[in-house]
Amino acid sequence: MDLDVAVVGAGFAGLYLVHRLREQGFSVKAFDAADDVGGTWYWNRYPGARCDIPTTDYTYSFDPELEKVWTWSEKYATQPEILDYLRLVADRYDLRRDIVFSTTIESAVWDDAAARWRLVTDKGDEVVCRHYVMASGCLSLPKTPDIPGANDFAGEVYFTGKWPHEPVDFTGKRVAVIGTGSSAIQSIPLIAEQADELVVFQRTPNFSIPAHNGPPPADRLAEIAADRDAYREAAKWSRGGVPREVTTIMGTTASPELRRERFEAAWEAGELFAILGIFADQGFNPETNEIVSEMLREKIREVVKDPETADSLCPTDYPFGTKRPCLDTNYFQTFNLPHVRLVDLRKNPIVTIKSDGIDTAQESFGFDAIVFATGFDAMTGPLVAVDITGRNGVTLKEKWADGPSTYLGLTTVGFPNFFAVTGPGSPSVLSNMTVSIEQHVDWIADCLTDMRNQGFDTIEPTPVAESGWNQHVADCAAITLYEKANSWYMGANVPGKPRVFYPYIGGVDSYRAACDEVRSRGYFGFRLSGPVGEQVNDGVVRRLQPDVQLVIETMEAMGLPPLESLPVDQARMFMVMARAERPPGPQVGEVLDGTLPGADGPLDYRLYRPATPGPHPVVVYFHGGGWVLGDLDSDDPLCRDLCAQAEAVVVSVNYRHAPEHRFPAAADDAFAAVQWVGANMVSVGGVPGQLVVAGWSAGGNIAAIACQRARDLGGPDICGQLLITPVTDSDMTRPSYVENGDGYVLTKGLMDWFWNHYADPADRTQPSAAPLRGELRDLPPAVIVTGEFDPLRDEGAAYADALAAAGVDVTHIRARGHTHTSLTMVDVVLSGAPVRAEIFGHLRALFPASVPA
Ligand code: NAP
Repeated sequence: MDLDVAVVGAGFAGLYLVHRLREQGFSVKAFDAADDVGGTWYWNRYPGARCDIPTTDYTYSFDPELEKVWTWSEKYATQPEILDYLRLVADRYDLRRDIVFSTTIESAVWDDAAARWRLVTDKGDEVVCRHYVMASGCLSLPKTPDIPGANDFAGEVYFTGKWPHEPVDFTGKRVAVIGTGSSAIQSIPLIAEQADELVVFQRTPNFSIPAHNGPPPADRLAEIAADRDAYREAAKWSRGGVPREVTTIMGTTASPELRRERFEAAWEAGELFAILGIFADQGFNPETNEIVSEMLREKIREVVKDPETADSLCPTDYPFGTKRPCLDTNYFQTFNLPHVRLVDLRKNPIVTIKSDGIDTAQESFGFDAIVFATGFDAMTGPLVAVDITGRNGVTLKEKWADGPSTYLGLTTVGFPNFFAVTGPGSPSVLSNMTVSIEQHVDWIADCLTDMRNQGFDTIEPTPVAESGWNQHVADCAAITLYEKANSWYMGANVPGKPRVFYPYIGGVDSYRAACDEVRSRGYFGFRLSGPVGEQVNDGVVRRLQPDVQLVIETMEAMGLPPLESLPVDQARMFMVMARAERPPGPQVGEVLDGTLPGADGPLDYRLYRPATPGPHPVVVYFHGGGWVLGDLDSDDPLCRDLCAQAEAVVVSVNYRHAPEHRFPAAADDAFAAVQWVGANMVSVGGVPGQLVVAGWSAGGNIAAIACQRARDLGGPDICGQLLITPVTDSDMTRPSYVENGDGYVLTKGLMDWFWNHYADPADRTQPSAAPLRGELRDLPPAVIVTGEFDPLRDEGAAYADALAAAGVDVTHIRARGHTHTSLTMVDVVLSGAPVRAEIFGHLRALFPASVPA
């Protein structure tokens, strides 16, 4: 067989691939181990198997006519109905003639000279193809039982993921179910209806909500009927692949009544995305997550009569949502039946499975049947199960030994013309699979068509693009609570599997935008070659931290006028309004407002004291705002964070602003404030000798200048300086101004506006305006922070380099994926937290261990 495309799998993905690729004029065959279409829905025939996305959404959208000829009978259709649907699809588009059933692809080798894949089937046949697509599903390789004696059981053995085709009858039998994931939770109530005795062996309790199954919801049907195309389009651009309103309500600030109201509404809706989206912050903020988790546990305790069983069924050691939540019909109620028992393996672990039952540490059980509902080697399992050898003889299994590495979850370096549908690093299992599958198949079909049209025959991602994507996938996961659970999302269910977050959690919408962008930029991040030659548009498609990108997109969507287009008083008012709804920052021991003598009259300050007993080191802090904007409130959350994390007294000083007070008023005030604090270390609760001068942006500018003046003008003694994305020079021609001068919040236009208000051009090169131009020897050790997407990045870096060259001890922290402002957005830009933790760790190291007498 010599094909344009060979596909593994004839489930939702494989079927649509055959259809789309054939439409595009490619020769294509799909191979499936099963003797019919269906994929997951062919194998998972256990009692109660249904989808957990409403079937009105869990459906193909590529052909509006298909939607007219098929109506789902239930909100969550059963496995037989979904299989019937896929059979209809296969018939309607005459797909079977290009599917080879009962055939497994066992190996695939890339032949570089021929630019072809050579596949071998379990029947020993060779298939040669230009492109090789794994549409083998994410949950298609059942986990091998990892329980001692699993092969010794002489009774009936069933795997939910490989259920027999003939009916299974448990009537009169003693049945064990091992596992309490989605498959178990769906099947247990139905097995209990038949079995004489049912014992459920639970290692980890699962959160589950009632599916409230029934006819498809009338409102959803009406919405689709009203404008089908708009509905399907909205699904494509939603976070999870099902259109729904995204809330901005935070669990921590919602009233108890509102929390309850929103929770009960989601409970009634009986939908995963509803219960996962009650509050905007439940996937990120442990406090909010615990609020939701506890309400879910209350529901379990309300239903389950035996308190000990209820207690065992309540999940307590992972945040809600970080293991796949389940939808059930009467799951918890089943444990009230007299012939059903729960064995909590945490209290009473399995010792061994034996020929006639199961021995636990405390008890011996006899069984006629054991049902393994123990899950899958998810996402990567089915891919590395095939012996796939890419360029230079490296296998996919070898390449992914430490975890998957992909570009867009679709492709991987070293494996040209190889595609994985819903692979690791794509939204896949975190989304409505059908929407993600269609998006992947369309992308692949478009890509192959573009290649053909442009004269390319091989495509492979570049190492730069792939490692950038892996980083982005990891960044997206790092700001969530998902990494806190031992879930199959983390590979934790398979002994020895690398522990990383496998899917992409940035959202179906963001993911689609990235894929579209890659294509529209001439296959950005890919190397294409063929008769026309070679094309490489190398680069990383997503470089901003995901939450920084979200902030920028949100601001852009608001269509705000640029600050520099406003009169100063309006710009200040705008800044005050913009911070009205922001989180307050962490609690500190005490906050006191006061005044201190400035260079030309009193200045307001705010003192933050840690909750721990003093005295403490002291940080004098100057806020950002281009010498024009900002005040004690503007940087309040940052000062709280600084105080709490560095365990230091923070004295935040409100210096005089331009244009009312132009250069060098701000710098003069900063130095006066540092002198005053230096002279009053004990009375502010500080340890003499432990004084750091700090500032952000323009505050970093005057902090740096204050350190230079303290050196030249007789003190005070300063043990360190912390400059966060500081202004160190007035030269706006450095590359970071060119690269980041527009689109990253602080713009070149705004910096112009700040400088124009603050200093005459002639003054801007003086060291008191541009500390980079000052004398730099004998300055206090410095921690300098620069943001990758900040116009000021290079002048910050230049200051770090120049200080180091002058013999000053410098730590330069480069905040990857951050802008000028994002690090200061405490509890808003969560990816800033680990960077601030690093900054404050270095800050603490600036304080001398032993204090001079
Ligand atoms: P799963 O969620 O991985 O659940 C497997 C269960 O077996 C877990 O409770 C696990 O405990 C337990 N287990 C595994 N190894 C064990 C051992 N050695 N000893 C004791 N217990 C063990 O698998 P699943 O239920 O098949 O579901 C997998 C995914 O498929 C779901 O999360 C969902 O995405 C999808 N699915 C969806 C539906 C649906 O509603 N449409 C239905 C079925 C499946 P631990 O938690 O401690 O590992």
